[in-house]
Amino acid sequence: MQHNNDTDYIDFGFKTVKTKLKTGLVHGLFSRVSNQYDLMNDVMSFGLHRCWKKSFVDRLALKPNMQILDVAGGTGDIAIRIAKDKAYLSPCVTVCDLTYDMVRQGKDKAINAGILNIKWHIGNGEQLPYADASFDRATIAFGLRNITNKDQALSEIARVLKPGGMLYCLEFSPPEGTLKPLYDAYSFRIIPWMGELFAKDREAYQYLVESIRQFPKPEILSDMVLKHGFTHCAYEKWTGGIVALHQAVR
Ligand code: SAM
Repeated sequence: MQHNNDTDYIDFGFKTVKTKLKTGLVHGLFSRVSNQYDLMNDVMSFGLHRCWKKSFVDRLALKPNMQILDVAGGTGDIAIRIAKDKAYLSPCVTVCDLTYDMVRQGKDKAINAGILNIKWHIGNGEQLPYADASFDRATIAFGLRNITNKDQALSEIARVLKPGGMLYCLEFSPPEGTLKPLYDAYSFRIIPWMGELFAKDREAYQYLVESIRQFPKPEILSDMVLKHGFTHCAYEKWTGGIVALHQAVR
């Protein structure tokens, strides 16, 4: 008789899948939607994601010549914003993302904006291809939720950060409070329909709204971060708590 451990299976949205298959499913999903990913972000959030990302980059407390790693950087919204808005600080920005098609979109976007100084790498956040203590800042925006082994990714980020370096994580939070019924109705009724309409992929956007409900609440995520070599972790809820920023010191 075969015995399954708890760790043999994991959530993929509201579905349960074999843990060893999840990263491949996530990779497939982002490969499929990569062409319409940026458009869908604008449509779904009514452009709000741009404000969140701007505020996020403004919080990084960058100093001249810092080495910055953007994990799960996808189509480059964070890296490009850092390279453009903070150009006077000459930051060295590296994007590491699992999905070639997302990175390709990001590279094209950066080149079209005249930004040539971002390093683009394909890699898994659970096994970052960098030496210990390489970066001053690590950012991860809307990425951690999609990573299969989140503890492993946090521990890898801690490893590649220099002592005193900082992790900044921006992520959706499970909705609570008075906003919840409205947000749930919008999430489950409208967003998958928009996914079908604009990205021809209802399933991918059904996964998005489900994965948000499976993601740890900010206080739980804060405890998780502290288990992986970070000395201090603070969080803030934005936009009625639908998004949270975590800042942690290595
Ligand atoms: N950070 C970008 C942004 O804010 O628009 C992209 C976020 S997108 C929702 C999630 C990204 O996580 C995708 O580009 C996907 O390829 C990447 N991803 C998923 N699992 C990953 C992993 N294990 N390692 C690195 N990147 C991963």
